[in-house]
Amino acid sequence: MYLFKKVQDLQAFIQHEKGEQRSIGFVPTMGALHQGHLSLIEKCHRMSDVCVASIFVNPTQFNETTDLLKYPRTPEQDIELLHSAGCQVLFMPPVEEVYPMGQKPSISFDFGYLSQPMEGAHRPGHFQGMAQVVNRLLEIVQSDCLFMGQKDYQQFAIVKNMLQQLGSSIQLVMCPIIREEDGLAMSSRNMRLTKSQRLIAPNIFRTLTMARQTVHSHFPQQIAQEAMKMLSIPGMEAEYFEIVDGVTLRPVQLFEEVDLAVACTAVRVGEVRLIDNMVLKGEV
Ligand code: AMP
Repeated sequence: MYLFKKVQDLQAFIQHEKGEQRSIGFVPTMGALHQGHLSLIEKCHRMSDVCVASIFVNPTQFNETTDLLKYPRTPEQDIELLHSAGCQVLFMPPVEEVYPMGQKPSISFDFGYLSQPMEGAHRPGHFQGMAQVVNRLLEIVQSDCLFMGQKDYQQFAIVKNMLQQLGSSIQLVMCPIIREEDGLAMSSRNMRLTKSQRLIAPNIFRTLTMARQTVHSHFPQQIAQEAMKMLSIPGMEAEYFEIVDGVTLRPVQLFEEVDLAVACTAVRVGEVRLIDNMVLKGEV
């Protein structure tokens, strides 16, 4: 596996590969890799000639300083894992390579309603920072395909919209959520959970499962209320539980009115903020 830290070096490599008619797949990450990330790498590896991963903890998408400072970093282990998953190229730039001379990206996006509810309401500025860095990384990597997880459902919807706004021909591929045996969605932030917090964390998955099982007998609003109750156990605090149209992200009033309904939630377990989602109706 090649490891590049400089934009110029990576671009020279990519230009060469493109000259050889090889397709480029890209998996952006913030590191502290787990099986969820590796499933994206494996898919990218299967669908592209060259699989490029990036590890960059983007400061501009963190709205809480402690979250940024405490974000887990395990670079040596990440390199091993990427190599064994078949990744051919790792791009691990320092901040000044992504934002030369401290310049913030000048491009700003308007995502309309997509960026307003859920994560948008609870993490001001997060999606602007995320979209800007994905756009910058795509400018650098010039990939044919981009692989992202359903785990960050709203993020996926926003990146899809961004690519449409840019008139991009990049193929965006959604990869399913990989879970621990007890249902907890894998996340780099899970490392920060204490033993007792880890024990209660699967309550998020149980709640989403309850939601899916009651779709045929309850209204969305009743399910969401029940879910908020289920999530309020000692040590856990739900920020939101919303059942939304999987395309517009607007709240679902009646399941019959939409083709795709997704339950999305964000929960605080002590200091750690976890997000998860589940499709309740239709297919992503
Ligand atoms: P992150 O490093 O958290 O920014 O995540 C990088 C990519 O991995 C994003 O596209 C995430 O949606 C995806 N991802 C994170 N956790 C999982 C998971 N448990 N299953 C599948 N994809 C995931």
